[in-house]
Amino acid sequence: MKILIIDDSYDAMALAKVRLGREGHTILCATNGQEGLEAADREAPDLILLDVDMPDMSGFDVCRRLKASPTLFMIPVIFLSGSGGPEDKVRGLDLGAVDFVTKPFDAFELRARVRTALRTKYLQDLLRDFAVIDPLTELSNRRALDERLGQEWTRLVRHGGVLSVIMADIDHFKAVNDQFGHPAGDEVLRQVARLLIQSCRQSDTLARYGGEEFAVVAPETDLVAAAEYADRLRRGICDRPLNVNGQSMTVTISVGVASSVGCETVQELVRAADAALYCAKSAGRNCVKAHQEARSPQPTP
Ligand code: GH3
Ligand code: MG
Ligand code: MG
Repeated sequence: MKILIIDDSYDAMALAKVRLGREGHTILCATNGQEGLEAADREAPDLILLDVDMPDMSGFDVCRRLKASPTLFMIPVIFLSGSGGPEDKVRGLDLGAVDFVTKPFDAFELRARVRTALRTKYLQDLLRDFAVIDPLTELSNRRALDERLGQEWTRLVRHGGVLSVIMADIDHFKAVNDQFGHPAGDEVLRQVARLLIQSCRQSDTLARYGGEEFAVVAPETDLVAAAEYADRLRRGICDRPLNVNGQSMTVTISVGVASSVGCETVQELVRAADAALYCAKSAGRNCVKAHQEARSPQPTP
């Protein structure tokens, strides 16, 4: 695993590096708080060993900033300190550190404490995966999608710009289950997910929204670009036959698209994409509808 040591003392750093390197971890070093925060952001370490006494920014300040960051707060911190009175220990732990080691440290004790912190981090990551990943398709799940949508909406409110949501639903999927059985239906979902990923931009979140419905959060994408994107997703499915238990099968998706322009809330944006999807279904399926079209009167099916 990856460990970041932030310490202004080269001696302490070199010692910790030798002691921990032996365990097979990758050790990264930073010699001041600012450098440490930047390294944490860039490298996403599994653990940070943080010296308390540093000039400019103290270890306590660094810890406070780490814990206030929505992307870094999950990284466990072990404080290293030369003084280590009970007050400092309490302060460090109250700031969110998992442990406090007093220098000069005993090599065996340090390694054991690092192992404990890494074990907890591993379990925490595992739980996090369970919470945000759909087990069938291994895509992000609804919870992860909602989280990403919330983040993007906050960014939009703060900095402006445009955000689009794409909703896709497999056409007549119930018939697949009815004809070939539920396990074959599951396999179709897995393969459709793989194909959608291939057509998605890496920076966008593709999620299984529910049942046989998928959603893409596309930041900095206006309605026209999102509709083109959605059509690429649609073609990526209908143009490529699936292979389910040795049997070739083609499925199609209907897709709805909406952009944040004119939406007051993120819920409204999702509802708009959903309404557009409904229009695509009404229009005969295997097609893309954008929300502005969805607003205009549609012929009743
Ligand atoms: P439409 O074109 O209108 O979307 O028709 P549809 O048949 O796709 O839609 P409908 O909502 O009638 O049926 C969806 C089906 O998807 C019913 C449900 O059993 C099935 N389904 C939902 N989740 C899963 C799953 O995880 N695995 C399998 N195999 N089927 C699922
Ligand atoms: Mg469907
Ligand atoms: Mg559906």
